[in-house]
Amino acid sequence: MTGDGIGQETPEETRVCPRCGSVYRSIEVKRIGDRYYIYAYHGKKGKVPQLCSLGPLESPDKVISDIRIKLAALQVTLGDAPVDDRLAVASELSKLAGEIYQLAFNLAKPK
Ligand SMILES: [Zn+2]
Repeated sequence: MTGDGIGQETPEETRVCPRCGSVYRSIEVKRIGDRYYIYAYHGKKGKVPQLCSLGPLESPDKVISDIRIKLAALQVTLGDAPVDDRLAVASELSKLAGEIYQLAFNLAKPK
């Protein structure tokens, strides 16, 4: 892990960096001033961490509303898709649901 980033391990098959298209090792969140930014961490080249910037971290409300919009769009997109595609996406969604459940559980835990 680098800096004060929050390392978030994700399953190998979902670790494709939206910026450069290669597999990343973890998602890092860095604080710059009073804002947070998301980076895909690709490991180190010598001592220099290889990071792709994925943009600022939005407020929690915005993140959740974005997820709802994306899920609604996915439902429309997959409406007429072949059953194999739908099953593959359903399997990914159920893994994601597990991760979201775990995250919610961790957040709700008293410190
Ligand atoms: Zn990248």
